[in-house]
Amino acid sequence: MLSVEGLRSSYGRIEVLHGIELSVSAGEIVTVVGANGAGKTTLLKCLSGIQPVSAGSIVFRGEALTAVPAYRRLKRGLAQSPEGRQIFTNLTVEENLRLGAYLFADEKVERDMEDAFVMFPILKQKRDQAAGGLSGGQQQMLAIARALMGRPSCLLLDEPSMGLAPILVAQIFDVVKGLRAHDVTVLLVEQNAFGALSIADRGYVMETGRITMSGPAAELIADERIRQAYLGI
Ligand code: ATP
Repeated sequence: MLSVEGLRSSYGRIEVLHGIELSVSAGEIVTVVGANGAGKTTLLKCLSGIQPVSAGSIVFRGEALTAVPAYRRLKRGLAQSPEGRQIFTNLTVEENLRLGAYLFADEKVERDMEDAFVMFPILKQKRDQAAGGLSGGQQQMLAIARALMGRPSCLLLDEPSMGLAPILVAQIFDVVKGLRAHDVTVLLVEQNAFGALSIADRGYVMETGRITMSGPAAELIADERIRQAYLGI
């Protein structure tokens, strides 16, 4: 579904992605784990089109994406739930969800909203409240639900567990795992390597702009180097 080859990207003259190779098949949950500053967010920004790519290719559902502007990528089925959630705090929960559906003016928007409320019952309860009043975990759910309103076939998730209490972290990972049942393929970027690898099919380890390891998530969790470097075991 998504294939990245030789991807390079820079901020000014400083290159931070040095030739990333990565692929995601339809129906998979794939995670990219790595320390703060490894380049995970930059990678997702390249995929969603808000960070320029200096070399390499991104192919999504058989089409080259590299030259496609960010606003057209959602139309092709690629949505991102950004780092730090970036919900509209002054708008209500429902208004935030409607913004996620801005591409569509059909009656399916209402059904999608009902689906979102089935998936996230707390959002239904808070539907008319300002999103800024939601807890961190609820805001993260709203960010994911908003991205799903764009009817993506592939969802890019940037650090959904960031800043959440452990119990909420577990809930968010459950939600991400459940996306599979909704026919959404997931590329999940996380510093919480254990949580992410626990729900993923496959994983990549990123260190200073390079992929240094990859494989089935279960193998990565069992790998001694990963256990020491990322899992604190
Ligand atoms: P985090 O978990 O903090 O988001 P990350 O793995 O996502 O980390 P990136 O945010 O992609 O890492 O950052 C990769 C490198 O690029 C880091 O060295 C960072 O300092 C640098 N960087 C990120 N954004 C910018 C920017 N806007 N201008 C200059 N350098 C940047």
